[in-house]
Amino acid sequence: MNLDEIDIHKELKKYFGFSQFKGLQEQVIKSIITKHNTFVIMPTGGGKSLCYQLPALIQNGTAIVVSPLIALMKNQVDAIRSLSSENGIAHVLNSSLTKTEISQVKKDITSGITKLLYVAPESLTKEEYVEFLQSVPISFVAIDEAHCISEWGHDFRPEYRNLRHIIKQLGDVPVIGLTATATPKVQEDILKNLDMSDATTFKASFNRPNLFYEVRTKTKNIEADIIRFIKQHKGKSGIIYCLSRKKVEEIAEVLQVNGISAVPYHAGLDAKTRAKHQDMFLMEDVEVVVATIAFGMGIDKPDVRFVIHHDIPKSLESYYQETGRAGRDGGEGHCLAYYSYKDVEKLEKFMSGKPVAEQEIGFALLQEVVAYAETSMSRRKFLLHYFGEEFDSETGEGADMDDNVRNPKSKVEAKDQVKT
Ligand code: ADP
Ligand code: MG
Repeated sequence: MNLDEIDIHKELKKYFGFSQFKGLQEQVIKSIITKHNTFVIMPTGGGKSLCYQLPALIQNGTAIVVSPLIALMKNQVDAIRSLSSENGIAHVLNSSLTKTEISQVKKDITSGITKLLYVAPESLTKEEYVEFLQSVPISFVAIDEAHCISEWGHDFRPEYRNLRHIIKQLGDVPVIGLTATATPKVQEDILKNLDMSDATTFKASFNRPNLFYEVRTKTKNIEADIIRFIKQHKGKSGIIYCLSRKKVEEIAEVLQVNGISAVPYHAGLDAKTRAKHQDMFLMEDVEVVVATIAFGMGIDKPDVRFVIHHDIPKSLESYYQETGRAGRDGGEGHCLAYYSYKDVEKLEKFMSGKPVAEQEIGFALLQEVVAYAETSMSRRKFLLHYFGEEFDSETGEGADMDDNVRNPKSKVEAKDQVKT
């Protein structure tokens, strides 16, 4: 497609009703419609979906979007359909479809109605789908959550490793990789595994200037400390992450007993209860959700005011993702993590049952979390450095938004504390 022929601002307005692009969106979209392999690294909420949705909508052929979660795909398809009078404009192809539904999808693609086809990576490996997709015009393949391809990412999915092989069978189509978690290592892995070292890379800053980062030493009084913290944020929404389901239940109960409206959320609860608790949180029927990491993917509540980590996360990517759910609206977001070296040892013990290669990666990632918790430097600088980004801790945006900068102190000696 020739860039001179289209006014992408007009198309943006027409399809999405937005009058401006966010961040690097415009450059990314231009790269895609001029058929370049493109790599997009933007934090969660940065607006990655639009980067491939808009080019898909304005080009000939169907764009294939690979995404790891069926629920997220369904949401996106519904959102796209609401922008158009044509229901067939977007489809999901997955194993839950009936034969009739599949033939409808194929019919819509063949007749050129379908601009976006969402597929789970495991569906894309199916011979019959690949054969069909070879026979229709494909505008490009977008791989959302591309970090799933890397063992160094926080959500490794082996099926993602087959993608390159399948895309090659589709002929010469541009590939777009998108992720919100790209340490230099993950980034390298994505480019290598998708065989797209030639890709034009767009990386947005990962700085979240409105988030305040704080680490407290974990003591026996943690529950009282959390209660005090929440009471200081009365009427505000927050998430508390715990490592185990048991701890989630325990903390939720302790909060309830102390007059704080809280619900638990973890994979051990049945789907109905989980959905109910999630809705209660979104609708502000409760202030706090106490959860395992099962909670949060794809949840877009703009006014989460605090994220507490009762237990340290297993990597800094996870920490960044989980804390990133605070302050989406640009308002206050307090990110408080409790740290004790005992928890580190607990996590290490969990990992010791895993295959050696996985263990080594796990330990290395965990050591970064320890370093973050124990550092006395700017936490923002530390986090951003981890993502390959230089941050000026004097003049950078949000420079004074952490405990170390506000109250310079000697290193957190949690290690010693446990021993004595
Ligand atoms: P990501 O996938 O990077 O986490 P999303 O694609 O889910 O982010 O987008 C996050 C939010 O930003 C969505 O609510 C979306 O509608 C909004 N958004 C995207 N682009 C724009 C824009 N140009 N102007 C205003 N809002 C936008
Ligand atoms: Mg996304």
